[in-house]
Amino acid sequence: MIDTILTIGSHSSLQILHGAKKEGFKTVQITPKNRVNFYNQFPFMDTVIGYDNEDEAVNKINEYENNGVLIPHGSLVEYIGSERVKRIKTKIFGNRNLFEWEANQKKKMSLLKYANIPIPEQFENPEDVDRMVIVKLPGAKGGKGYFIAKNKAQLKEGLKKLLDSKMINNIDEVIIQEYVIGVPMYFQFFYSPIMNRLEITGIDIRYETNIDGLRRLPADINVDPTFVVVGNIPAVARESLLPKVYDYGLSFVNTVREYVPPGMIGPFCLESVAKDSGEIVVFEFSGRIVAGTNLYIYGSPYSWLYWDEPMSVGRRIAREIKLALNMNKLDKILT
Ligand code: AMP
Repeated sequence: MIDTILTIGSHSSLQILHGAKKEGFKTVQITPKNRVNFYNQFPFMDTVIGYDNEDEAVNKINEYENNGVLIPHGSLVEYIGSERVKRIKTKIFGNRNLFEWEANQKKKMSLLKYANIPIPEQFENPEDVDRMVIVKLPGAKGGKGYFIAKNKAQLKEGLKKLLDSKMINNIDEVIIQEYVIGVPMYFQFFYSPIMNRLEITGIDIRYETNIDGLRRLPADINVDPTFVVVGNIPAVARESLLPKVYDYGLSFVNTVREYVPPGMIGPFCLESVAKDSGEIVVFEFSGRIVAGTNLYIYGSPYSWLYWDEPMSVGRRIAREIKLALNMNKLDKILT
């Protein structure tokens, strides 16, 4: 009988376990040992377990095989490693088959393409580049090592630096994308297989060094933009943009159902740039809870419209598990 929700101590674990407690579950935090004191201070943490190494973390997670659900977040694979994540026997909330798609940036972008969502032009061969591009490194490293190239020559120079410094072994590892000019907006969704409903749970903007600091500098100071995520800022969208991004969300849910069974379950995020033409281009997605939802631990301007009560995404996940438990439909949301 499922009665416990567990997660890894990082990313969005505070709201996940806070929400789990609110919905009546026991909570377990599995965290690197040096963070045990930090997590123990919170009254909604029933059990905080420290680990010394990643294998130990997997063993601890597997102790909850019979009564627990692990909530994956953006740092799970980063902390535990993709190979070890495959050894997790405890049920995961959401579709674990998506991990593999998310691990490969090119495969990942293809899902957006199949969903007919506008995406930036992508270049396989540096020789074909005819505009400003952004170069992204593999894995979720919070934007580390990304760079902008204004033209082909700058691109080649930047790629050489990455190769020389061994940040990559081969240029196939990077993704070269048209740099879309506009403002970033990250649209957070929750798909409920139990209620058969897609909800917009919030919108955020990432706060990134140094790109977001450049406007504070005089224009003649030359600093290359970098994209290291350090925080998140809340946003609401002009209401006329919402039906469009909602359609993107629905289309994405349908596409994932077709290509990555059993489909999208729970939170995901479409990471976008809104252009002055009104067009919204999605340059990436996250297939699970994003850290930008931490802004809305008391609910967002959108979650309020569905629930009329404080509803963080962490709590929304626990609510979905509770609904599924009561309806005997856990198989629809756990993998
Ligand atoms: P990502 O790791 O794909 O989320 O990208 C990190 C950051 O780079 C984003 O938060 C944006 O600020 C920026 N970015 C990524 N892709 C693009 C793009 N195609 N056009 C403009 N900005 C981008």
